[in-house]
Amino acid sequence: MTDLAIPGLMDRRRALLGPNMSTFYDDPVHVVRGEGVWLWDAEGRKYLDCYNNVPHVGHCNPRVVQAICAQAAALNTHTRYLHAGILDYVERLTATFDDPLNTAILTCTGSEANDIALRMAEAMTGKRGIIATDATYHGNTTLVSHLSKSNVPAVGFGLGQYLRHVQAPDSYRIPDPDGQHFAAGVQAAIDDLERSGIGFAALIVCPLFLNEGFPTQAEGWLRPAAEAARRAGGLLICDEVQSGFGRCGSHFWAHQKQGVIPDVVTMGKPMGNGHPVAGLVTRADIMARFRTSFRYFNTFGGNPVSCAAAAAVLDELQEKDLQANAARIGRLAADRLQALAQKYPVIGDVRQSGMVFGAEFVLDRDSKTPAPAYADRVVNRLRQRGILLSKLGRHKNTLKIRPPMPFSTAHLDLLMTTLDQVLAETPVAP
Ligand code: PMP
Repeated sequence: MTDLAIPGLMDRRRALLGPNMSTFYDDPVHVVRGEGVWLWDAEGRKYLDCYNNVPHVGHCNPRVVQAICAQAAALNTHTRYLHAGILDYVERLTATFDDPLNTAILTCTGSEANDIALRMAEAMTGKRGIIATDATYHGNTTLVSHLSKSNVPAVGFGLGQYLRHVQAPDSYRIPDPDGQHFAAGVQAAIDDLERSGIGFAALIVCPLFLNEGFPTQAEGWLRPAAEAARRAGGLLICDEVQSGFGRCGSHFWAHQKQGVIPDVVTMGKPMGNGHPVAGLVTRADIMARFRTSFRYFNTFGGNPVSCAAAAAVLDELQEKDLQANAARIGRLAADRLQALAQKYPVIGDVRQSGMVFGAEFVLDRDSKTPAPAYADRVVNRLRQRGILLSKLGRHKNTLKIRPPMPFSTAHLDLLMTTLDQVLAETPVAP
């Protein structure tokens, strides 16, 4: 018999899917329905979704649902037949990039896209050394999983020799207004890879450093690190799996805000609004070198249904002007968080980049000692009050608020009012 009670679901999950499958919250949420920025659980309780970036244009967005259904009813195949859908989509997608980024590969996950990007770097440079930050996540293929220090496999193929981690930027504790300190770390890692004989192939970063805790950075902050990578003959790979498709508000792609033109840009999560479609965009010369160096075929990547979903996401972003909404709501959110910081000393820093914003909790503002347990209590109490968000960052003490893009001022007001109540009720000492 199928048990739908939460303890029963947890037991079945462990038995059927294996141990160590993480869930959010001390009291996991069993969601059964979504609409716009709202989710409902099995008991009919409504939650404001302030966290999910995959339903970029809103949960169960009618335009995307309709596009998927219509294409699924007409045709879905692997990608060896000719089909205009993928070409129409890639034309529209690449039009959102600066020259000379004008070719694409579509995949099903961000991990695959990053894996291809690393192979492109190998094909272009003949070298294998990769540089990433020490608090990042780029996905779960064998190679890509090794990039996440927090995720380094307990067993594995010993790929560590090809990787160098540089300290993740932390604008609150390590002032680096022009990105020179970060660039110096990248240069040291390049030198080390070259000395070791492995050689430097690529620097891979999320341009907003979202998993690292989205530090505050001036426009153009990444330029010195990008120049160091280029000078050494390596590629700059920007992982925009989280930061892309207008989320940063000021630009459609976060690397544009950073003032760089990467060699490869990878994307995923929001691209199909929940339908698994991902990919990368690169220059024609890199694509040509990759295609002649590696044989690559992806059965599902860019299939007609995926392309219909992804095209509907672009339509929706455009028609509802959701990038402008991200910029507007983000500014208001930062103001509201600053007002809370006046009231609650536990908020050490407020950060925001379009529709991604948050606050870093500290035990005291002088020592800036991170308060990750406090962040946990706040996240769990918000969940009890029907607000879903999470925490992350170098010190796991930063609220990560990253709602679907149609998030409105009324939604923001509900979030901030509830956060105010929860902060008032949550003592810093447990
Ligand atoms: N890159 C970044 C920055 C991510 O956040 C993620 C997923 N959390 C990935 C890559 C991997 O994407 P996927 O889970 O689709 O493989």
